[in-house]
Amino acid sequence: MRGLFLKTAALCLSLALCLVGCSSSEPTISIEATPAPAGSLHVMQTQAQLSGAQSQPLGGEASPLPGETPAPSAEETASPFPTENPDAEKICYLTFDDGPSKNTEQLLAVLAEKQVPATFFILGTNADAHPERVKAIADAGHLVANHSYSHKTDEIYQSLDALLADIQKCADSIHAILGDDYPTDLFRFPTGSTNKKCRDYREGVKAAGYRYFDWNALNGDAETHEKRSPEELMARLQETIEDVDGRKKEVIVLMHDTNSKENTVLMLSDAIDYLRSLGYEFRTLKNAQMH
Ligand SMILES: [Zn+2]
Repeated sequence: MRGLFLKTAALCLSLALCLVGCSSSEPTISIEATPAPAGSLHVMQTQAQLSGAQSQPLGGEASPLPGETPAPSAEETASPFPTENPDAEKICYLTFDDGPSKNTEQLLAVLAEKQVPATFFILGTNADAHPERVKAIADAGHLVANHSYSHKTDEIYQSLDALLADIQKCADSIHAILGDDYPTDLFRFPTGSTNKKCRDYREGVKAAGYRYFDWNALNGDAETHEKRSPEELMARLQETIEDVDGRKKEVIVLMHDTNSKENTVLMLSDAIDYLRSLGYEFRTLKNAQMH
């Protein structure tokens, strides 16, 4: 009981700190605020994904002509990462919010060295300022996803229309850089969907065709006023992973890709080694399903 109280108090403190100091960053482990069903990642799947699955070409792929070798699909040639094990028992989705930034290139270098795919929830403002960084993320085989255009929570959470307009603006930026075919239905609410400011908008966002993803672990790089050292970020990651490891098949780790988060770059390699030692396989959220 005492442990529960302390944990609750810690979360409240963490949330309070963040509400005070992290106007453009995430507050805390949002899934803890609204307990999700056992085994759930608090991941939402919407009509967009369902209809997307149905929009695959009917009738299968065209057969190659006799003597002709079928060309590998774009997807097969695009992924530089190890083949996914369909029977993987533990899956980890690394996510980086609020980028791209001056640290993006170094994050990509670590991910390439470790052969780990990740999901980057980018901001349209930063994408417009540095389209080459967005392109570098996609070219490296990672998933670029939508985290709103402005991240101005006091404006975008005024109404569902305001929120959807801002999300669409970010989608427009992504399309302008990566092409009109690039999927932009994957969304993360600034501050997380369980934040009371945006709880009311979840259904509207789903109805508009977006899937949204929160997180159930983090390295705490946006939780405090004081900058955490790489060692402190690692300790916070281990603390939150220990909370879900063994209880959940999948973990979504929240980290940030902003100009001040160089310590996230510095701890990323150790973080990946640690997660691998626990048996996690890394994937992007592209095909993540609700459980
Ligand atoms: Zn954010």
